[in-house]
Amino acid sequence: MRARVGGLIVLLIGLFCTPVRVGAQAASPASPPPNARAQAPASVPRVRLVATGGTISNKVGGRLTAEELVSSMPGIERYARPEFEQYTNLASGELTLDQWLGLAKRLNEIFKTEPDIAGLVVTSGTDTLEELAYFLNLTVRSEKPVVVVGSMRNPSTLGYEGAANLLEGFRVAASPDARGKGALVVLNDEINAAREVTKTDALRLSTFQTRGYGVLGVVDADRVVFYREPVKRRMAQSEFDVSAVAHLPRVDVIMVYQGADGDLIKAAADAGAQGIVIAAAGAGATSGTQRDGENAAVKKGVILVTTTRTGSGRIAPRRAPAGAQAPANPNNPLTPDEQRRFVAGEDLSPVKARVLLMVALTKTHDPAEIQRIFSEY
Ligand code: ASP
Repeated sequence: MRARVGGLIVLLIGLFCTPVRVGAQAASPASPPPNARAQAPASVPRVRLVATGGTISNKVGGRLTAEELVSSMPGIERYARPEFEQYTNLASGELTLDQWLGLAKRLNEIFKTEPDIAGLVVTSGTDTLEELAYFLNLTVRSEKPVVVVGSMRNPSTLGYEGAANLLEGFRVAASPDARGKGALVVLNDEINAAREVTKTDALRLSTFQTRGYGVLGVVDADRVVFYREPVKRRMAQSEFDVSAVAHLPRVDVIMVYQGADGDLIKAAADAGAQGIVIAAAGAGATSGTQRDGENAAVKKGVILVTTTRTGSGRIAPRRAPAGAQAPANPNNPLTPDEQRRFVAGEDLSPVKARVLLMVALTKTHDPAEIQRIFSEY
């Protein structure tokens, strides 16, 4: 009898700890995870990994699958009932913008069709992780957390920190305190807001930083702690519905540097860019003949967003307050309408401004509306 009870306990623990596979491919709808619902106590929330690839899974001889990743977290059963699905298994830079869109649609679908999921964890390569995280912050419409996780060392390297980061990502996604804070980036025991975080170092483990504003919170051994929350519109408050969007519009980023020519700006406009983000050297000034390039672009109807390449600081509307009548200037080669196509990028980094501009252009081409969006998101 005692042996039978012992066997039953072992079986239950086995069921309880076994991660649940859901939907092998992005396109396949998630089937209900039967044993997750049946076995997990109400106090242990369902959290699903949607894996996209990156160094966190890039071991010598082949990439770790989503299943292998969730199996690598000792003690996960204390915090969450882990589930997984493989979306892609690529380096971050290899994902196409169509795959980004598909991922946002998939995460929205999971939240809509499986209301008892507490949160989602998305693995990503770190190179463009902050861009993907901000895109999800704008396009996944839920109060529940989306936690983006990666690692700087790969699974074949001594000191691989991927499993620890993943476990921390699951803990944050399972935390009721993470609700309503939008997409979060968790690496190296720190929680940063998707909008604010930047990869600041090519190699160091402490690379993800929120310059100026600091972390939202930390993941400590005893608990997940938040110290502040974002104020900009995010996830559940987002006005962007990408469910019917087939492709994101082309938006390029062009840097200002000494003597930089305006030809590249013209080339981007000629290649079909609907928006161009200028990464200015300081608070918005251009270099060489870039002003001519900008003017040519706005004459073609391109929206031109100014940001700073300095890493922090706010760009306020300068030349043409959005939507307002520009002062008459006989030397200005631009019409008032063309002048209004210059939009200030606020405190967004150039790559984040590009993400917001791509998303904004799926909804409107009105410069005043786009400037409003830049001040709200
Ligand atoms: N090259 C990798 C990627 O972005 C870097 C990483 O994951 O750390 O996919």
